[in-house]
Amino acid sequence: MTTVSIIEKIMLALLPYDYAALEPYISEQTLRYHHDKHMAAYVAKTNELVAGTPYENATLEDIITTADGPLFNNAAQVWNHEFYFAQFSPTPLKEPEGHLKEVVEVEYGGLEQLKEKMSKAAMALFGSGWVWLACDSHGKLHIVSSPNAGNPLRDGLYPLLAIDVWEHAYYIDHRNVRADGVKAFWQVLDWRVIDKRYDEVVHATKKQ
Ligand code: MN
Repeated sequence: MTTVSIIEKIMLALLPYDYAALEPYISEQTLRYHHDKHMAAYVAKTNELVAGTPYENATLEDIITTADGPLFNNAAQVWNHEFYFAQFSPTPLKEPEGHLKEVVEVEYGGLEQLKEKMSKAAMALFGSGWVWLACDSHGKLHIVSSPNAGNPLRDGLYPLLAIDVWEHAYYIDHRNVRADGVKAFWQVLDWRVIDKRYDEVVHATKKQ
C-alpha cells in the first residue's frame, strides 16, 4: 500500500469557544458535526484539490475569488465556516454599538428590521446556501443570498455576517424547521464581532 502524504496548506481553525458554549441555541452535538465533520471535510478536500496545482500556495481568498467548480466550492466552504463560527459567543453583545449601529438605523430603520429582512431571506433561499450581511467600499450595507458555497467576495463585497442555511446547520436541533434555527442564530450572534468587521472594512477601504 502506498501512502500519499499531503502537506496541509489549509488548516482547520479551532472553534473559539467550547462545543457546549452556545447551548441551548446551538447544541454541542450540532457543533461537533458541523465543525468536526462538515467543515473538516471541506478542509481535507481543499488540501487534496490544491496539491500539485498552481493554487498550492494560494490564500483561501485568492482561491475563492478566482477558482470554479469543486475547488471553489470546497475552499469557499472552508472560508465561510471559519467566518461563521467566529461570530458567535456565549456572552454576545445583542446589538451593534459603533458606526454600524448608525448605518443600520439609516439604511434599515433599526436592527429589528434588518434582522427580519435577513431572516426572510434565509427562509426564501431554496435549498442550501448562505445569507450574508455585506458592505461595499462605501460602507453601504447589502443583504446577499448565495446558493451553495457562494460568498460576496465574488461580487467585490465585504462579508460582515453569515447565516448558514444548509440543513446541516440546524437539522439536529430543529429538524426541518429552518425558521427556528434562524431565531436561535440571532441569540448567540455577537455584534461585537460584526462591529469590528465593519470598522475594519471601512478603515481599509478609506486607505485605498
Ligand atoms: Mn455549514
